[in-house]
Amino acid sequence: MEGCKSALFGIVGRENVTTDKAELFCYSFDASIHSSAPDVVVRPGSAEEVPRIVRYANKKKIPVVPRGAGTALCGHSLPWNGGITLDMTRMSHIVETHVEDLYVVVGPGIVYSTLNAALKPFGFFFPPEPGSADVCTIGGMVAVNASGTKAIKYGATRDYVLGLEVVLPNGRIVQTGSRTIKNSSGYQLHRLFVGSEGTLGVITEIKLKVAPLPSYVSTALAAYEDLEAAGRTISNLIKGRMLPAALEIMDKTCIQAVNKSMRLDLPEVNGLVIIEFDGHRDTVKDDMRRAEEICRKENPTLFTSSDDPVERERLWAGRKAVLPSMSRLKGGQVSTSLADDMIVPISKIPQLIHFISRVARKQRLVIGTYGHCGDGNLHAKVLFNVRKRDAWKRAWKACQDIYKACIGLGGSLSGEHGIGFTRAPFMGMEHKTELDLMRVIKRAIDPNNIMNPGKLSLDFTPKTFVTRLRYPVES
Ligand SMILES: Cc1cc2nc3c(=O)[nH]c(=O)nc-3n(C[C@H](O)[C@H](O)[C@H](O)COP(=O)(O)OP(=O)(O)OC[C@H]3O[C@@H](n4cnc5c(N)ncnc54)[C@H](O)[C@@H]3O)c2cc1C
Repeated sequence: MEGCKSALFGIVGRENVTTDKAELFCYSFDASIHSSAPDVVVRPGSAEEVPRIVRYANKKKIPVVPRGAGTALCGHSLPWNGGITLDMTRMSHIVETHVEDLYVVVGPGIVYSTLNAALKPFGFFFPPEPGSADVCTIGGMVAVNASGTKAIKYGATRDYVLGLEVVLPNGRIVQTGSRTIKNSSGYQLHRLFVGSEGTLGVITEIKLKVAPLPSYVSTALAAYEDLEAAGRTISNLIKGRMLPAALEIMDKTCIQAVNKSMRLDLPEVNGLVIIEFDGHRDTVKDDMRRAEEICRKENPTLFTSSDDPVERERLWAGRKAVLPSMSRLKGGQVSTSLADDMIVPISKIPQLIHFISRVARKQRLVIGTYGHCGDGNLHAKVLFNVRKRDAWKRAWKACQDIYKACIGLGGSLSGEHGIGFTRAPFMGMEHKTELDLMRVIKRAIDPNNIMNPGKLSLDFTPKTFVTRLRYPVES
């Protein structure tokens, strides 16, 4: 480690390298159930430093794990075999702004909401807003293909990446893609790096498409005693050729959690649907009128809508608070991100929600379900006493059943959060014919397997996610 440290000092300066135990401890966590520490943390400040670090690591076969804000939910940025954590947050500059050409060029460490604050005076924005918008980095979003509530209308990060500068494991810099909003020139390699979770190289610059900010927004909330009725409403909105900017669902467990932790008074029904339209005022008003008609067909106990920014914020408050509120629902039970991001064809959402509640009863677990029902993406938070080994066994069984059902319905393990380590045991279940091809690509680009090893089931398939837990578990 001493030799490694002095080589790194020479590249980024002493102040940007640390092996301090307290700092390494902080870097041993992300927002997942796992914990695993690096041997050293390096904070490069420029694209010139990154190839030198990576070339050195490749020569010495030292693992390199890029890290943005560390908010990913499946252990993505945790160094599974030690090595170097490459903290990219110093590279947080806006390099160029070209709204007339619909793109910006940014460093990977810029925070999502910082970028949008800078774009706002131009009347533009980068739409795929995740729940972690105020902290997560654009580099992290590109590396997991993140998205959020607006994906139904605006798509995911991949739809906005025009080009990338990437440092390959051998230290070579490649420029992929272009500065144009479409491109049919050969393999679209920049798309391969989107969602690669730091396993193929380090992203050092991003050319990102931007969109005009909508001039008018209106939000509605509809409450249903019957979850099926909420599900039918969603299908009816889609079949009715409506294209909301957001279409969200929350079940009773999630409503109770936010009511308790935020002191909200949302109706504690079985299905709460949030609908948002944006665009030109007249079109939005017309869309909201049609949406209300559709919602009322299933007899909601409440339907309310507003274009007032403060009232709209109130309608969203519960939905936005679900993730942090879940752990406060039941004393001693912790909300875990285990089966929290599956996606199914939109019409299968009610079936999947019902299946999840059956599994919860069978395994004596509390599972709260919410998500972006408009694009088929569901977040199921599994609550249990994380100190009990038996509870982990039941959680593992529940997740096996849930993922099997999700794939059976024609779905995928992840709609936006990615695979990391937690979901790696299930990769073979989904990618029966293509996992081998992913492994061939990984070996071709990273023959020494230095880039974020242990993730995505590329170099090994973990038998379970119940390992390297951040919680002390009683035997
Ligand atoms: C409260 C909360 C809400 C969330 N809501 C959402 C949501 O709505 N939608 C969603 O998609 N996600 C959500 N997430 C998950 C997470 O915030 C996103 O996936 C986010 O994009 C991760 O960004 P980050 O900067 O934290 O990346 P990190 O967690 O630091 O890293 C994520 C992955 O990207 C890789 N990486 C980071 N930077 C680079 C780089 N420069 N080059 C190569 N690889 C790199 C890392 O190696 C790792 O594999 C949420 C998380 C929390 C805690």
